[in-house]
Amino acid sequence: MVASLLDGKSCSADVEAALVGRINNCIDAGIKPHLAVVIVGNDPASHVYVGAKIRACQRLGIKSTHIELPEETLELELRKIISDLNVDENVHGILIQSPLPEHMNEESLTDMIDPSKDVDGFHPVNLGRLVQSRDDCLIPCTPNGVMRLLEWAGIETKGKTALVIGRSRNVGMPQAILLASKGVDATVTIGHSRTQDMESQCLGADIIIAAVGRPNVIKKSWIKPGAVVVDVGINRVDDDKSEKGYVLVGDVEKSAKEVASWITPVPGGVGPMTVAMLMENTVAAAEQKI
Ligand code: NAP
Repeated sequence: MVASLLDGKSCSADVEAALVGRINNCIDAGIKPHLAVVIVGNDPASHVYVGAKIRACQRLGIKSTHIELPEETLELELRKIISDLNVDENVHGILIQSPLPEHMNEESLTDMIDPSKDVDGFHPVNLGRLVQSRDDCLIPCTPNGVMRLLEWAGIETKGKTALVIGRSRNVGMPQAILLASKGVDATVTIGHSRTQDMESQCLGADIIIAAVGRPNVIKKSWIKPGAVVVDVGINRVDDDKSEKGYVLVGDVEKSAKEVASWITPVPGGVGPMTVAMLMENTVAAAEQKI
């Protein structure tokens, strides 16, 4: 078996196309959707991700403000910027790119963001509403993007066993909640670094969502034939032969495509979906102001 591709580039293009009319409606109503992206420090991968988010805004006619701060910025200074963005009526979405420098408390800074502008969906108000299955929350972009990709490919989730590997607040935990929610109806197991016998857990899963952050940690031989594999991991691995000096590798061995029914490429799978869902959250936040 060779797996079909869960093509995040095509799916995200469809998501973006569906946003055009909504953006025009906002503009007609005098509201130009506006995303503010704040990045602190020099983490190269973070700058690449922010670049992709700003380019998506430009593609769609969403206004973006890109605030770049040096590594040594004080937490107090960032708090002031968030406070100003919270009260700026022309800003609809605020994204603080993770990770922040170690001297900053990421959680308490997230808590400061006005939940109605929290387009990352990490604020406790939004995560709490997600747990309550309410439709008035901004859902974290990566797990929401994974759900959209499954739906787009027509993959059945009802009654299927799903294994989410990773339990972070931004990916694994909300992913598990979304898969278990009414209407999606998967039976979900959450794996993490203390899980014993991950191989058996994987072999029992119809759907595997890997969000670990370790290259090739999930082996081809662990995949049940015909399973759906969504590889969220993006890992930089040194490679002298590559022009950049590194290559991007997922959490799942690439050869898993020989066993799975569907699989995401890395890159070009979940990454573009994350950006598309950020655009959708920004538009949804702007629509609240009409
Ligand atoms: P994270 O906060 O570091 O969480 C990683 C999770 O993996 C933790 O729950 C950890 O368990 C678990 N884990 C670590 N080693 C493990 C192992 N050997 N076996 C099983 N579980 C293990 O990372 P994250 O923010 O969720 O991101 C995960 C990956 O997704 C990263 O590669 C990141 O770059 C990528 N990512 C991609 C996108 C995208 O758009 N494609 C977006 C976000 C993140 P413990 O809880 O026990 O420590």
